[in-house]
Amino acid sequence: MTKIAFLGLGNMGQPMSRNLVEAGFDVTGFDLSGEALAAAAGNGVTPAASTEEAIAEAGIVITMLPTGDDVRNAFLGGSGIVEKSRPGALFIDSSTISSTVTVEVEAVARAAGRRMIDAPVSGGTPRAQSGELTFMVGGAEADLDEARPLLEAMGARIYHVGGPGAGHTAKLCNNILSGICMAGTVEALALGVANGLDPAILTEVMKNSSGSNYALERYHPFPGLMDGVPSARNFAGGFRSDFQVKDMRLARELANTSRTLAPMGNLATDLFVLHCQNGHAGEDYSSIIKLVIDLDEY
Ligand code: NAD
Repeated sequence: MTKIAFLGLGNMGQPMSRNLVEAGFDVTGFDLSGEALAAAAGNGVTPAASTEEAIAEAGIVITMLPTGDDVRNAFLGGSGIVEKSRPGALFIDSSTISSTVTVEVEAVARAAGRRMIDAPVSGGTPRAQSGELTFMVGGAEADLDEARPLLEAMGARIYHVGGPGAGHTAKLCNNILSGICMAGTVEALALGVANGLDPAILTEVMKNSSGSNYALERYHPFPGLMDGVPSARNFAGGFRSDFQVKDMRLARELANTSRTLAPMGNLATDLFVLHCQNGHAGEDYSSIIKLVIDLDEY
């Protein structure tokens, strides 16, 4: 059986690697954090002492790392995944990064006889846990076909959106929209509760009206209204607000280079920047509700 290396076992990599193990794949993992590595080992992932050790026997290498710099360094820098992996290895990068980095790394990988697809995900930690992520994939059809059984073990929907980097472009389009929706949703909720409405009833109204969106339906920002989401656990363990800023800034860069207007995205990005500056960078992005409402009052 093809051996899998999984690098980056954080909020997302942890449940994704666990779902691979549960589907019967042979997964070796590495994370810079000993705590994350130990948790993955508890899920049946074989812990490695380094990236090099994790990839040594792997036919497929999955990365779920924070930023584009982390991905470039892992593949082309010190860890040297491209150079040290097995010839012919397939790389699946599920981190959210700029397509520019993917295009650069993919070209080096191809020249070295390796293959790479970008396969970023949406659905957050709840859908990572339930194995229902949405994958948006850039790269060659044949490489996606090889990756498909793994993606199916971690996700419910797989979209092939184009060549190298296209997956990340689709992901940035999605995340600028999800940031705008979350910022708008907390604004509407704040308006309602400040004017005497019950947030639970207001939620039902808006979910069944033209304001319905993912934040209301599956990722509610108002504490106490939905189980299993970050607002139910003090905004811990979800999608960090500074990652939301990272993604929206990348989308903004894309808008600049393609000379596209992004006025709503620009404004929402700045709201998330302000929220991070207020000390909430490490909290889930739905905590932006704190920017518009004092939760202690409700
Ligand atoms: P995280 O910070 O929880 O996890 C990242 C992990 O990578 C950490 O455990 C860190 O120690 C590890 N790491 C960093 N550099 C490493 C290296 N060189 N080798 C091995 N491990 C390394 O982040 P996350 O929330 O899991 O997000 C990871 C990526 O997925 C980001 O690009 C993020 O934007 C994207 N993403 C996150 C979510 C979400 O809801 N959390 C959803 C979709 C996409």
